[in-house]
Amino acid sequence: MPTAHQDSEYLDRRKETMSEEERRPILNDLLGRTLELAFLNSRAYGEIYGQAGVQPGDVKDIDDLSRLPLLRMSDLVERQNQNPPFGGFETVPPDRFQRVYVNPGLIYQPGGWEDEDTSWAEAMCGAGFKRGDRLINTFNYHLWPFAFMLDESAKMIGASLVPAGAGNILMQVRILQTLEIKGFLGTPSFLMSLAQRAEGLGLEVRRDLALEAAMVGAEMLPESLRQRLEDKLGITIRQCYGTVFLGCLGYECRHATGLHVPENVIVEIVDPVTGRPVPEGVTGEIVATRFNPAYPMIRLATGDLSLFSREQCPCGRTGPMLKKVLGRVDQATKVGSTFVHPWQADELMARYPEAFKYQVVVTRDRDVDRMTFHVEIDEGQSDPDRIQRRIERDIEEVLGVKGEVKAVPRGTIPDFHKKIDDRRQWD
Ligand SMILES: [Zn+2]
Repeated sequence: MPTAHQDSEYLDRRKETMSEEERRPILNDLLGRTLELAFLNSRAYGEIYGQAGVQPGDVKDIDDLSRLPLLRMSDLVERQNQNPPFGGFETVPPDRFQRVYVNPGLIYQPGGWEDEDTSWAEAMCGAGFKRGDRLINTFNYHLWPFAFMLDESAKMIGASLVPAGAGNILMQVRILQTLEIKGFLGTPSFLMSLAQRAEGLGLEVRRDLALEAAMVGAEMLPESLRQRLEDKLGITIRQCYGTVFLGCLGYECRHATGLHVPENVIVEIVDPVTGRPVPEGVTGEIVATRFNPAYPMIRLATGDLSLFSREQCPCGRTGPMLKKVLGRVDQATKVGSTFVHPWQADELMARYPEAFKYQVVVTRDRDVDRMTFHVEIDEGQSDPDRIQRRIERDIEEVLGVKGEVKAVPRGTIPDFHKKIDDRRQWD
């Protein structure tokens, strides 16, 4: 097999396939430099580590990381409220940032180095995208950073990209066809909608579209949905996982044996209560450290559950691999007397390819809990009311508690959203 083809699977083959003995000192060095910056220049980290009694020299190796307290999004938000806009996590004056992204919940994020973080580009190579491919990016470009991160990553791999955003589905089908788009970036449910709309227009999608691969994220990808998409479109579907503050934390290669952790980030699986790493193969919370020198994220807890895989992937990548993301640490919510888990809601909604995205909102009205599924339903559906009623029936059947469905316009639900938004006020 020609080397050029083999190398196209990797962004940086040498780094991705180096031995643990080679990789460790590189990561330790990055960690040391990042911590030094954080200790010296970031007010927030200075305070947090001061309170925890940690000195700069205490962490010299990845194994020492658990001496540092976990950082939670709630801490970050609280500090941003006290010390706007960035909470003092920045290590440079706030006016030095080229961009400010605004995540849902008014969580501010400085930007301007999307062209330096290689994690998503590594994921794209794993998904099968290569130099010269034409890609379509259907993630939302409005306020949130994710679409821009992928946009810059496409440049890194030498692909060309259509910044479509989340919008007019009919136009997107035409773009796919006319521009002979090879790669899709977006949510699995949106890809399904595109495929169905294309079929509705009389296209034979396997023949009339040039699509070869899709990298999907921001939603769960049930295997049944992956299978349906691959069969319908005749392409490979690979998923990526990450958060906007941490970058990509895992991606599937063509073998899809698990989620490879990119080479430029440290991922730990920890006990959510103690913050200590759990033994290999045990489920815990995903915590990651990203070496952005201007806005470092050190031991940021994701709230997502996973476990490390012991398998060796045939692709030859040697870094850690997550098995899959299993759900949320903190999001099981009691509605009335019934626990509702995000994975249950995911399973239920996977039955509805007509729904792009959904979010469960729990409120309380005169001492009674109310659960509402906000659902972005494909605007091309002839009978959205019928789908709404079917989902409502399934909610009661699957979750064991009544719930309403409210159709909301496309783009209402953010790309990285809380699956269950508990809006009840308890005094
Ligand atoms: Zn692999």
